[in-house]
Amino acid sequence: MNDSISQNLQQLKSEISDSVTLVAVSKTKPNQAIMEAYATGHRIFGENKVQEMTQKWEELPRDIQWHMIGHLQTNKVKYIAPYVALIHSLDRVKLATEINRQGERYRRVMDCLIQIKIAKEDEKYGFSPDDALIFLEKLTTNPMPNLRIRGVMGMATFTSDSEQIKHEFSVLKSFFDHNKKAHNLEILSMGMSGDYPLALELGSNMIRVGSAIFGSRQAH
Ligand SMILES: *Cc1c(COP(=O)(O)O)cnc(C)c1O
Repeated sequence: MNDSISQNLQQLKSEISDSVTLVAVSKTKPNQAIMEAYATGHRIFGENKVQEMTQKWEELPRDIQWHMIGHLQTNKVKYIAPYVALIHSLDRVKLATEINRQGERYRRVMDCLIQIKIAKEDEKYGFSPDDALIFLEKLTTNPMPNLRIRGVMGMATFTSDSEQIKHEFSVLKSFFDHNKKAHNLEILSMGMSGDYPLALELGSNMIRVGSAIFGSRQAH
């Protein structure tokens, strides 16, 4: 047992307000580490791989809320559709169509965040702000009844330049503010271990924190 997980979690929770949701990112970490966080009362965990998340869902308590935060292949939506609590990585229209289809199949409304590309790095997935707006508007005229957009998610560039990170977060925050009323957006998912204090300063209400809770991950 390594009780630093519960200490890290308690420390983090003491820093954030009650209106901010903490997603504990448990990717690559064993069930035992998740159960240590669970023992403190924490129930929201984030994973980025379908197979790993599904295996953990099968093995761990059923009151855990599993958030998919990683890039999602269309042909794998069916594996998480029965149980996933929130998909943060809705990054293309074709994926939305499949999530809606699987939601219909499992008679659920699938809660999703639109992932918006705010980072400079090319490899980051996501809609441009313009395309995200086009998609939201299309949904008002052609609704997908088994998919509900709850908000937006973004990842800042991995850099030590805090001005750049702040700029990128402010792009997402202003998209959120401009569109929340018309499209019922409630969740602004931004901030990870390295940048969550900046994200909170800029108005985030959901942070996704892994290594600051569970320790660093092995490269693999
Ligand atoms: C891994 C990951 C995180 C957490 O990263 P840490 O730096 O360990 O906090 C957050 N969001 C996404 C999308 C991730 O893939």
